[in-house]
Amino acid sequence: MSPAEAAIRIEELTRELNEYNYQYYVLANPSVSDYDFDQKLKELEALEQQFPQFLDPDSPTQQVGGDITQRFKTVRHRWSMLSLGNTYSEQELRDFDERVRKAIGNDFEYVCELKFDGLSISITYENGILKQAVTRGDGTQGDEVTTNVRTIRSIPNRLKNNGYPDLFEIRGEIFMHRPAFQRLNNERIENSEMAYANPRNFAAGTIKLQDSAEVARRPLDCFLYFLYSDNRNKLFKNHWDSLQAIKKWGFHVCEHTLLCRSIDEVLAFITKWEEQRLSLSYDIDGIVIKVNDYGQQEELGFTAKSPRWAISYKYKAEQVETVFQSVSYQVGRTGAVTPVANLKPVLLAGTTVKRASLHNANEIIRLDLHEGDTVYVEKGGEIIPKVMGVNFLKRVAGAQPIIYPSTCPQCSTLLVRKEGEAVHYCPNDEGCPPQIVGRMQHFISRKAMDIEGMGHETIDTFFKQGLLRNITDIYTLKDKQDVLVRLERFGQKSIDNMLAGIEKSKEKPFEKVLFALGIRYVGETIAKKLAAHFKNIDALASASKEEIESVHEIGERIAESVNEYFAEEVHHSQIELLKRHGLQLALIVDETEHLSDNLLGKTFVISGVFEQFSREELTALIEGHGGKLLSSISGKLDYLVAGDKMGPSKLAKAEKLGIPIISEQDLLQLVANTD
Ligand code: AMP
Ligand code: ZN
Repeated sequence: MSPAEAAIRIEELTRELNEYNYQYYVLANPSVSDYDFDQKLKELEALEQQFPQFLDPDSPTQQVGGDITQRFKTVRHRWSMLSLGNTYSEQELRDFDERVRKAIGNDFEYVCELKFDGLSISITYENGILKQAVTRGDGTQGDEVTTNVRTIRSIPNRLKNNGYPDLFEIRGEIFMHRPAFQRLNNERIENSEMAYANPRNFAAGTIKLQDSAEVARRPLDCFLYFLYSDNRNKLFKNHWDSLQAIKKWGFHVCEHTLLCRSIDEVLAFITKWEEQRLSLSYDIDGIVIKVNDYGQQEELGFTAKSPRWAISYKYKAEQVETVFQSVSYQVGRTGAVTPVANLKPVLLAGTTVKRASLHNANEIIRLDLHEGDTVYVEKGGEIIPKVMGVNFLKRVAGAQPIIYPSTCPQCSTLLVRKEGEAVHYCPNDEGCPPQIVGRMQHFISRKAMDIEGMGHETIDTFFKQGLLRNITDIYTLKDKQDVLVRLERFGQKSIDNMLAGIEKSKEKPFEKVLFALGIRYVGETIAKKLAAHFKNIDALASASKEEIESVHEIGERIAESVNEYFAEEVHHSQIELLKRHGLQLALIVDETEHLSDNLLGKTFVISGVFEQFSREELTALIEGHGGKLLSSISGKLDYLVAGDKMGPSKLAKAEKLGIPIISEQDLLQLVANTD
């Protein structure tokens, strides 16, 4: 390759890898397999070595990737959290073994461990008490997530027995067991909350929540696999012994760890777990091999990015080839159109697969999918497998490309796509059958109005019979009994039962009704927050986007969607009808008392963590005295109430705009002083 060609290729690889990194770390939504990623990284590494003049200090080969976010305090790691070198073949592993032998001779052991597919965490203990937990971040510094980590039951807050160093750091992998993932993720899908692609993303998303109580509700687990302390070498000779001790102190150490005396034993371990990995309740993506002896580890040392005494062997994700037959375009209750590939049935990771996700129009273009293509289908921890690529060698001559439809497959309305969004929507929400039916089915579902005696099929039948057109019609069914009795398979008893269920649903609290309306992005939790804040539907309907966004943990996307919902006249008339039918469209008790008008006309932003009050209490205090909360810092803002761990960018912005930054004490003063 000429230097000019190399320069072009290096630039190309850099651009691709940076984009993958962004998708992986920032969006938690990888678009390539780990294998492809690593192949490209290796190609780039090789080129940079051959043509060092083109090595960019910001090249993806020089980074470990990052997960640092604004909302947590950033903490430096006492010992850097490096990544591991990766291998994919027996040969690469034997090369590693060769390198180790050259450096330390032939007398050593390996510890083989499963490579857990979660997120790494570093936890500090002082005198046997959990003091701090930090994510890997960029390897040098990470996010401090101590409160969240304390909720994980398999991580002791206080150690058992004794013999542990006064001060040490322990590293491990936080993960979620697959059955728990499936259960919780299904609940999210039912609630139209964002679903996670796999247990790792779910665990990673959970650790970054601001609400520790919510973290505690999600069953996370953690395997520990590294101990660091200043006097470690005095306490233990090797890694294996430290693992035995860690276990005694109360940590969860994976029972499948094995001491090996040769690379052949290591390879046998790799083969065994490649076959048996699916029988584990958690995901692994490979094996980690570590030189056991601490003295030998030191001799081997580190490269800039990883230890020379350890390496990982990565399994290829299970992938099969099959024939793609057609695309079904499913229209959901919110109008989102999802393309699903119908496949020639094929066995994959133990189950027969007939359908695979195609995500959206961009994905179909990215794959360059044509009729009759042979495709690669992969299954990670995902519920539904993904089409990863096309085997172009098997493309049928003259095959036509798959074109995403421009109109709704159910009602022929022109589809729309919002700027920045990948998903197409059918905007005909009042006339598109699957949307109408889907909304009513959502309305009556267990977590919403929970109407007894009515099921998805009842809704479907009634819709086809012309008995139901929208949710308000449910409450007029009692006047249509003469039609109902004439329906097949519908006896008087089941009619009575259903009508009683409908009557009873009128007692459901406001937050349930709000959730039942099926506003896009308003899941169960969001509905609760909105109901608590706005108290009644009219206040919510007339709220500005900014006001909605000022509610804690409600973002722009949700606020926009709520505004759009109420911008439609039909929704107002539906709500009026629901009110007339006696549904709860307001909270029954009004919790925020009106205390005074001392903060009237003043605006506030609350940020950070507070000692004396919770955020909710501060909100109640401000609103109780007539103040208003805003979602973001702007020139219009009167006060920024700042606690601990506030994002540095917010602080800087407030300072720049000259906005008074006050503490919770100052706020109390303000409330009292203006009397
Ligand atoms: P990689 O991200 O591919 O460079 O691999 C390094 C990561 O593997 C570490 O940061 C850990 O999060 C993870 N890992 C999973 N299981 C283990 C294990 N048993 N020992 C060490 N690292 C592990
Ligand atoms: Zn439609």
